[in-house]
Amino acid sequence: MEFKFVKSKRGKDLLAYEGFTYRQEKEINGKRIWKCTKYEKEKCKARAHSTEDSVVVISPHSHVPDNGDILKKEITNEVREVAKSTREPPNRIVAQVIKKNVRTEDEEGSVPKIPNLEENSGKSWVRQRQSK
Ligand SMILES: [Zn+2]
Repeated sequence: MEFKFVKSKRGKDLLAYEGFTYRQEKEINGKRIWKCTKYEKEKCKARAHSTEDSVVVISPHSHVPDNGDILKKEITNEVREVAKSTREPPNRIVAQVIKKNVRTEDEEGSVPKIPNLEENSGKSWVRQRQSK
């Protein structure tokens, strides 16, 4: 099963695997230890260990996987990335990114709300950059 990394709202790596997302807890000898992002909300105790090419999930999740959530994060990340390198209006960037990433009706249902994305790609993102 493939795993990938998506960025959290704060720009940190999240591990995305089998519909679950994990936040890094620590790193020991090149092995990264992750805990479920629903740790607080769902009191989920699941953890995962990752090396360069594999992920092992340590304990079961207390909730169902959410692939839509991962897609949402990916789209948001990409909108933000594209927004850095273009002067196109946010709504056009959003439309392009959605078109590229969304291929099924199922996925369509989990597309983030356009106003949120515009907020992410535009104003709040500019503010972030200016504060650095
Ligand atoms: Zn969980």
